[in-house]
Amino acid sequence: MKIQEYQAKEIFSRYGIPVEKHTLCNTAADVTAAYQREFGTGKAVVKAQVLTGGRGKAGGVAVVNNEQDAREQAQRILGMSIKGLPVRKVLLSEAVDIAAEYYVGLTVDRQARTALLMLSASGGMDIEQVAALTPEKLIRFPIDPFVGMPDYVARRLAFSLFGDKEHALRIGRILQAIYRIYTNEDASLVEINPLALTTGGELVAIDAKIMFDDNALYRHPHLRDLQELTEVEKIEAEAKEKGFSYVHTEGDIGCMVNGAGLAMTTMDMIKLNGGEPANFLDIGGSSNPDKVTEAMKLLMRDRQVRVVLINIFGGITRCDDVALGLIHASEQVKSDIPIVVRLTGTNEEQGRELLRDYPRFQIATTMREATLMALNAKKNLKN
Ligand code: GDP
Ligand code: MN
Repeated sequence: MKIQEYQAKEIFSRYGIPVEKHTLCNTAADVTAAYQREFGTGKAVVKAQVLTGGRGKAGGVAVVNNEQDAREQAQRILGMSIKGLPVRKVLLSEAVDIAAEYYVGLTVDRQARTALLMLSASGGMDIEQVAALTPEKLIRFPIDPFVGMPDYVARRLAFSLFGDKEHALRIGRILQAIYRIYTNEDASLVEINPLALTTGGELVAIDAKIMFDDNALYRHPHLRDLQELTEVEKIEAEAKEKGFSYVHTEGDIGCMVNGAGLAMTTMDMIKLNGGEPANFLDIGGSSNPDKVTEAMKLLMRDRQVRVVLINIFGGITRCDDVALGLIHASEQVKSDIPIVVRLTGTNEEQGRELLRDYPRFQIATTMREATLMALNAKKNLKN
């Protein structure tokens, strides 16, 4: 689970990591009011709050110099989408005079079965480049879980980044705080990029990123409240409640399949023939018509879906039951999206017979035929 920068900064503050003064705003008017209240005049920073990195490069971070500037930049950033995520909130932050930007990250090294601390004096927006092109500038330290981060370890690590004793002691405390967040909260990533050294000699976390281990969330009910689901994640969560395995992907062919293996194969078939699946959806083993209706509603909520491909293997599942579910669903969910159906196995003839009365359905017998029909249906769509 990811959380927003402002939420991560709240946790940082609680653990004693210095962050700059900031206010969360939902509208440009909020930003203007906060600017007047907190800054009056002078420099501040407006920052998009979205669950992705690279906001700076995308134009989602702006230094502003006066109230009008603040309002204009807030309006602009609140109208943006960054990597497909609409910006709904911004942070108005105190502008920090930066002398140097450091990178500090703590994550899981699955191969080594330890936590891995990464440090770099070349922090900021290009850390991925640094890691790729000059990996020697990104220092990596495995942290022995049985030793953790006592003072002497923190200091030793700190001196690898700073010659100056005062700075090293301060960053040492930040490393210990990061390690406490990582262990206490079951985080899988705690990252500060950049950790700014200000011209006044202070160390401030001006960006904050925390990811939590989903499998440990049950131990932290308070963390669950921090979760802000995207539209897609909301649909995925709802699907889970209804007992479906549903994963949204990038394409436009919505799939409804029974069995995870068949669902994967269906996605492969679509790709093999030059299409892109919009999702993975395994409706499971039962042939309850209501379930089919629910699955259909789910697919129709995804606005990317332009054609639906239904691929059912009837074992215990009866194809006539599935057909009844589909008919029921198409009566409930009004839409003119083409639906290709392939039923095979138990009662497949009866199933197909039921569907024949409804021109809405394009009936196929083999998986390949069904895939080609779906791709063809997409090709024939206007625009
Ligand atoms: P990211 O691009 O999503 O990682 O967003 P960051 O919060 O890391 O901001 C990107 C860059 O904006 C930072 O690396 C800084 O160079 C710059 N920046 C952010 N806050 C401030 C600030 O208070 N003062 C100055 N001068 N630059 C800032
Ligand atoms: Mn950053």
